[in-house]
Amino acid sequence: MTDHAAISFWLETAGDDLTPRPPLDGSAEVDVAILGAGLTGLWTAWYLRRRDPSLRILVVEREIAGFGASGRNGAWCAPDLNISLARLARLHGENAARRMQQATYDAVVEVGRACREAGIDGGFHKGGEISVARGPHGVPSLEAAYAEYERFGFGDRYRLVDATTLGERIRIAGAVRGLIGDDAAVVHPGRLVRGLARAVEREGVRIVEGTPVTGFRPRDVEGKATMATPSGDVRAPVIVLAGEAYLTELRPLHRQLLPLWSLIVLTEPLDDAQWAAIGWAGREVVDSTRLSVDYLSRTEDGRILFGGRGAPYRFGSPIHPAYDHHEPTFDRLRTFVREWFPALADVSFTHAWGGPLGMPRDWHPTIAFDAPSGIATARGYTGHGVSATNLAGRTLTDLITGERSELTELPVVNHRSRNWELEPFRWIGIRYVQRALERLDDSAARSGRPPSGRSLAERIASH
Ligand SMILES: Cc1cc2nc3c(=O)[nH]c(=O)nc-3n(C[C@H](O)[C@H](O)[C@H](O)COP(=O)(O)OP(=O)(O)OC[C@H]3O[C@@H](n4cnc5c(N)ncnc54)[C@H](O)[C@@H]3O)c2cc1C
Repeated sequence: MTDHAAISFWLETAGDDLTPRPPLDGSAEVDVAILGAGLTGLWTAWYLRRRDPSLRILVVEREIAGFGASGRNGAWCAPDLNISLARLARLHGENAARRMQQATYDAVVEVGRACREAGIDGGFHKGGEISVARGPHGVPSLEAAYAEYERFGFGDRYRLVDATTLGERIRIAGAVRGLIGDDAAVVHPGRLVRGLARAVEREGVRIVEGTPVTGFRPRDVEGKATMATPSGDVRAPVIVLAGEAYLTELRPLHRQLLPLWSLIVLTEPLDDAQWAAIGWAGREVVDSTRLSVDYLSRTEDGRILFGGRGAPYRFGSPIHPAYDHHEPTFDRLRTFVREWFPALADVSFTHAWGGPLGMPRDWHPTIAFDAPSGIATARGYTGHGVSATNLAGRTLTDLITGERSELTELPVVNHRSRNWELEPFRWIGIRYVQRALERLDDSAARSGRPPSGRSLAERIASH
């Protein structure tokens, strides 16, 4: 049996009984059936029941609530998507890009508000966000990010600061500039997702665990869509596919997303002298300009979480618990902690874990409902889902209940990404980009010159 507490520090410290809820016993007929008890599935259940308390909602989870990325993430609840404002504007127009960005600010605020309303102690703390340039090579990218916010009318939410001002917030070796925003929050992902599961149950939603969905079918002549499970079919006018990276295991969706691992290391709680050397009293979420991605947060009990990519994509997109651990990447992340914070040269690390992100071919998330088939989904957050899942839950509620709103007009609504390439092209392409981005980061750090932005890997990655 899976030791669910061992999956992440967050599940270990969620303060909840992780014993799986009873599985589905037989078949079921409900109004809305949801695959997946992560944040997407649970926020959708929450807002649907608030809209219509008479709805019979069943959440079908293969493992336990919070088993996926929602119980493993880097604790960033930030106003961002995995797609730039400039690209949203190119695809959907400037106004749509602006509305989308505003919706992400609102989503962070709403996570905090809904947690209070639902009585969830999700550790929500709005400390803001800091991006740092660790060396002159990072400065152009920070300046470009700031210029983009200004162009879309959000410049007053951010400040470009020099090393001295940055050092008043956090002291990071080699940091020469910072971009500070006030809108991001940090959460306790385990308490958030497990608390939300308890909250939706209090609202009358049923969650079954240990129950895999093995297939799905669109509405039949009776207007019922179906999710198949080993114990029987779940039929409902609306089914919601909220399994993010794991959706790739369902044949019709296999090439819609690509499972890409993000990994995390966690230090022991630091002592007062170590914190005095580092600062970071505001518990902002922090990252740098590295192309191959890093993200940091400070836990309530005084640890540093350092996350990043680097684990290799596997041929054929398989998902296996063994891939949650990749020692070379963990080692690299531990080295980063010591490089960023020299006062931590001797720090111990107590936890290391990871999980798959769901990455669409065009890096573009989607929140969709197809009324004729009765199939809804929200997916493709690629590592930016903690606030976006809340937005997805509210948007799916409007779409499913047929309510036109500002949310249903957002450019992510009903977006369809094209499929990933067949193997071996998928593997060749992804491994090339992964390696090239790491090389570009290393060479920029060595030379002090920024990546050109014109290399093939950068153009693919900023796609
Ligand atoms: C290591 C890591 C760090 C991250 N850091 C951040 C961060 O700091 N900030 C941020 O915004 N985002 C981050 N993300 C991304 C974010 O966590 C996700 O985008 C978000 O949690 C997705 O939620 P979800 O509910 O859609 O999917 P998940 O949380 O993955 O939930 C899907 C659920 O569906 C279940 N399921 C799947 N298939 C089936 C099936 N066939 N039958 C039944 N059940 C099934 C799974 O068991 C799982 O519980 C990170 C992700 C990872 C992996």
